[in-house]
Amino acid sequence: MSFWSIDQVAAVDGELAAIIKNEMMRQRTTLQLIASENFTSPAVLAATASVLTNKYAEGYPSKRYYGGNAIIDEAEDLAKRRVCQLFGAEHANVQPHSGASANLAVYMALVNPGDTILAMSLDQGGHLTHGSPVSITGKIYKFVHYGVSPYSSDGSGERIDLDQLRDLAKRENPKLIVAGTTAYTRIIDPMPFREIADEVGAKLLFDVAHPAGLIAGGVHPNPVGVADVVTFTTHKTLRGPRGGTILTGEGLAKAIDSAVFPGLQGGPLEHVIAAKAVAFFEAMQPGFKVYAQKAVENAKALAASLADQGFRLVSNGTDNHQVLIDLRTFDQDLTGKAAQDSLDRAGITCNRNQIPNDPRPPFITSGLRLGTPAETTAGMGTAEMGLIASLITKVLRHCGDETIEKEVLYEVRELCKNFDPYPTVSA
Ligand SMILES: *Cc1c(COP(=O)(O)O)cnc(C)c1O
Repeated sequence: MSFWSIDQVAAVDGELAAIIKNEMMRQRTTLQLIASENFTSPAVLAATASVLTNKYAEGYPSKRYYGGNAIIDEAEDLAKRRVCQLFGAEHANVQPHSGASANLAVYMALVNPGDTILAMSLDQGGHLTHGSPVSITGKIYKFVHYGVSPYSSDGSGERIDLDQLRDLAKRENPKLIVAGTTAYTRIIDPMPFREIADEVGAKLLFDVAHPAGLIAGGVHPNPVGVADVVTFTTHKTLRGPRGGTILTGEGLAKAIDSAVFPGLQGGPLEHVIAAKAVAFFEAMQPGFKVYAQKAVENAKALAASLADQGFRLVSNGTDNHQVLIDLRTFDQDLTGKAAQDSLDRAGITCNRNQIPNDPRPPFITSGLRLGTPAETTAGMGTAEMGLIASLITKVLRHCGDETIEKEVLYEVRELCKNFDPYPTVSA
């Protein structure tokens, strides 16, 4: 018996069961190119749907505020042990409900309200939780932002501007420097960040929400042991359930744990923590290294094919699982919003994204972000990336043309038939 059979939902609630089935069908029959998404394994789904959701477990293993937690403790300890082994960390907190809560907990543990934090700005590739004015993080702390170097015709521009970072660090004396991005396609070496943090006596947080799976798979440098604290989401390239994790050394363990609980959260989601344990186990298998390599290979192939079709890529290519397109040279009038909507109707799911120094506002944008984690999990390779690039080009040459959108939707469905992410699961 499967814990998460949709039939069991259908027997009670036909309305909601139909919604789940429709979403399952959408994921199986259209292309999932959102860079922060993935297809979790049936084992991860099953653990998420387990009876561990029933248990209250405020506190930490062997220090709980409720009884009956001896078995739950084993699950949480297993998740912690595995993630420490996977990344070579001394201490893990696997309770954050999301990447946002993980980051907030780190700020709460390391700095005081009003203190200065240096992080990458949202419009240059950073994250909302890195001090955007609309985020609680930007309201509590004094964020100062660095960005990327200017565009350069030889392709060497649009990289994290370490000179600017160092100048700002010296001028602003931040208590904390945040490394990590949400829309940036290059390898980030943690060492220069460490050096700059040491020069000004700041702590260093590296938020690896996006490349966590690439780091676990050994294709990107591991910041654990270099940064004071490392945070990540478990649901992006790492391919686990939705959630966050914090890694740190013994010295900061207590402060981090207290910030997560009781600082920010109540009872942990132990069913999700169990699913994290499964995902960490899966990421330790030799096959995951191959997966991480393929996700990058596919992104490089997609980038090269898109460049051949006349698209300009921010930073002129990619080292990770993302591709960031500047639409302006392809078609001056084409916005990220119009492109995303037309591709959506053609069965190609991706998100519009601001590009560095975007002249258009965040709701419209001049960019598109694509990612390979999900379709690489579904088994696609470089040949399919070439095909996807030509389908994207076909839609965007005639953006909004319903006949073209329908033709591409048909081609997308045919392609997806051969790459079902859940071949062993009935709809
Ligand atoms: C996705 C992301 C987060 C936030 O994760 P949520 O689980 O959506 O809260 C934080 N930081 C970075 C860099 C991210 O890419």
